[in-house]
Formats: sequence, C-alpha cells, structure tokens
Amino acid sequence: KWCDVGDIISVVLTQVREFSPHRNIQVELPDDPAFIYGDEVLLEQVLVNIVSNAIKYSPGESQIVITVASDKSSSQLTIWVADQGIGIPEAERIRIFDKFYRSESTQHVTGTGLGLAICKGIVEVHGGTIVAEPNSGGGTRMRIDIPMEAHGSRFPYSEQGEVEE
Ligand code: ATP
Ligand code: MG
Repeated sequence: KWCDVGDIISVVLTQVREFSPHRNIQVELPDDPAFIYGDEVLLEQVLVNIVSNAIKYSPGESQIVITVASDKSSSQLTIWVADQGIGIPEAERIRIFDKFYRSESTQHVTGTGLGLAICKGIVEVHGGTIVAEPNSGGGTRMRIDIPMEAHGSRFPYSEQGEVEE
C-alpha cells in the first residue's frame, strides 16, 4: 500500500524513544509529503534498526540526523541516517550487510550482526538500495534509496489492481 514517509518516521521515533528517550535525534523532512509503495511495518523495522545502530555506535551526547529527500523527476526517495560515532572502516562498508558480520572495532558492544542483513533484504524487496557512507564530520551515514512508485512483481505484498506495471 502507499505509505506516508512522515508517518513512518514518527512511528520509528516513538519506538526508538522507548529504549533511548534522551538521544538528540533531528529529523529533516521534505516540504511536500512523500509516499512509498510498500509495507510500512517492514520499512519502520529498517529505520528502527538503522537508528538503533546509530545510537549504539556513537557517544550518548552526540547528535543523530535523519534526513528525507524526494526527487520527483526520478521518483526516488532518499533517507539518510547520520551519526557522529566510531565510523565504519572503508574495507568493511560492504561486508557489514552480510549475515552475522560484525566489525572488529565494535566487538565490545553486543549484537548478532543480523540487523543490517535484514535491512538490506527489506530495502531490496522494495526495489531500493542501502549503502554505508562516511559522515562528513566523522561517523557513519547510512543511505537508503527507494523508488516511490509501485514496482510490480518485485514486491511480494502488492494488492491486485493497485500495482502499475
Ligand atoms: P544486531 O543484529 O543486534 O543489529 P549488530 O548491530 O552488530 O547486531 P548490524 O546492525 O547488522 O549488527 O551491523 C553490523 C556491524 O556493522 C556492526 O556490528 C558494526 O560493527 C557495524 N555498524 C553498523 N552500523 C554502524 C554505525 N552506525 N556506526 C559504526 N558501525 C556500525
Ligand atoms: Mg544493529
């Protein structure tokens, strides 16, 4: 179904606030509402995972910024989650999306290494991509690009009659 990205972000913030009530999280949304054709619960799960990583791998007092931008001409939606944490070494930026992969630099923090593998699967089912980039001021910036319009058979939850080929 069509999901309002602003609504997705507010659900994500509510969920994140339950385990991290005091983190400084800024949100920058586009002026016009943006919609993605997809499964809102799965998309929320992606962002909760990414924001949880940003929280987990950066100092408690540092800022996290979620930015949403939509490009109407290419009908692509981009979501960035930027932190000022320990960052991801360039050599590992692809492997962090592998199942059970955890960076040597973060072994002191517990985790299963599944979060990003799940995120990647969900983003790809929506026809999108997810990459880790270095954040300009240090830390990590995760970037998700998702097509806003329906994309046919690639999406398994499409309701009949609503999908444009
Ligand atoms: P979990 O399955 O509980 O999420 P996890 O956080 O270790 O465990 P992933 O979310 O898949 O697993 O992340 C994989 C690895 O990528 C992490 O162990 C960490 O080394 C690195 N990583 C992910 N996000 C960040 C980030 N924002 N900053 C620095 N390193 C990160
Ligand atoms: Mg994680």
